[in-house]
Amino acid sequence: MLLEPMPWTAPTPTPQSCLDTILERRLSVHTPMPQFAVCDDELVIGGERLSRLAARVGQTPFYAYDRTLLRMRVAALRGVLPAGIKLHYAMKANPMPALVGLMAGLVDGIDVASAGELKVALDADAHPQEISFAGPGKRDVELRQAVAAGVLINIESFREVVALEAISRELDLTARVAVRVNPDFELKGAGMKMGGGPKQFGVDVEQMPELLTQIGRAGLAFEGFHLFAGSQNLRVDAICEAQQKSYELALRLAPLAPAPVQFLNLGGGFGIPYFAGESRLDLSPIGENLAQLAQRAETELPDAVFVIELGRYLVGEAGVYVARVVDRKISRGQVYLVVDGGLHHHLSASGNFGQVLRKNYPVAIGNKMNALETETVSVVGPLCTPLDLLADRMVLPIAKIGDFVVIFQSGAYGASASPQGFLGHPACLEVLV
Ligand SMILES: *Cc1c(COP(=O)(O)O)cnc(C)c1O
Repeated sequence: MLLEPMPWTAPTPTPQSCLDTILERRLSVHTPMPQFAVCDDELVIGGERLSRLAARVGQTPFYAYDRTLLRMRVAALRGVLPAGIKLHYAMKANPMPALVGLMAGLVDGIDVASAGELKVALDADAHPQEISFAGPGKRDVELRQAVAAGVLINIESFREVVALEAISRELDLTARVAVRVNPDFELKGAGMKMGGGPKQFGVDVEQMPELLTQIGRAGLAFEGFHLFAGSQNLRVDAICEAQQKSYELALRLAPLAPAPVQFLNLGGGFGIPYFAGESRLDLSPIGENLAQLAQRAETELPDAVFVIELGRYLVGEAGVYVARVVDRKISRGQVYLVVDGGLHHHLSASGNFGQVLRKNYPVAIGNKMNALETETVSVVGPLCTPLDLLADRMVLPIAKIGDFVVIFQSGAYGASASPQGFLGHPACLEVLV
């Protein structure tokens, strides 16, 4: 595939002597997005030029997710992971039903975090045996649905044990359970930490002896452990360390469990490059690390299968968000491109979904991919709030009204993670192409 260098990867000539400037520039450049081809100045998504795709979608803004890229991503990952490891899709990252349907056929299982997601996963024909349900505060009705569906429930509190015992009795079905452990370590370098220290997720490792005893007494079908340390990590060493520590922890807990450990969910947290200066993960050390752990498990945890659960890494790079320029304004010398989409559809690109400092996602003018004439612009949405900022003073090809602004790395935590009702603008569309 591809490919022409993106406009923002081509630095303007810099004097060779000016090393500081070169370094600074390198740090301020986004990694290329070679997953999408370029044809006659236009980005190609799902084998279609952007203008034609937009015509067939019938409106901007929209999200487009590329099937071929999703398939390639899973295949590439399988090539690196040791055989026998199960790959799960955490559908919180992108719950679009058509996409979940595609993913269900590619991965070994789907991780859901609500009864709503459970419905989508079951509709997508994911096998209940391979669906797991995590999340704090599962309501009784959700637990009941999960037991009736026959999916695995990741227990995250003592109350859930009591509730599941009653539900199992009522439905005459033994609840399948795993325990989500809040470990005594953190995933270093994660964008969002979800384990270690005090957390609302899982049950602290210190409370495991008590919890595992109660699960045994309640007669629930214990199957394994679930450890999820955090999300959006681009540090290979930190991911390997967390997997290593998770494995050791499971090994310590296994003798306390009411039944043999059939599976060990080691989490995931593999990140993708969003911001200038970030680059893609090299997965090979992670694959090697997992292979070593799997080898140890053959004797140390002989009944256990490893599971890796990934959301963002599987789908994030396969999606774009496309909006159209509706106005072009200059305020005290600064150029603003006003587009028809914004934070109400794409909260993360606006920097308001968990980021501490706002940084620009990779952005392009999708119908001017090779244009040489550039300018510094800010891309803003139509919302009456300064938070609605999609690109802050970026160097982009000169765009006019009607041109397409494309935000890359938009396949995860996009539409479903955005406040679509805020300010009453039209909803966005999502297409799988
Ligand atoms: C959010 C979440 C995931 C997915 O995280 P990504 O960073 O999208 O891979 C996986 N497992 C659990 C338990 C989660 O809460």
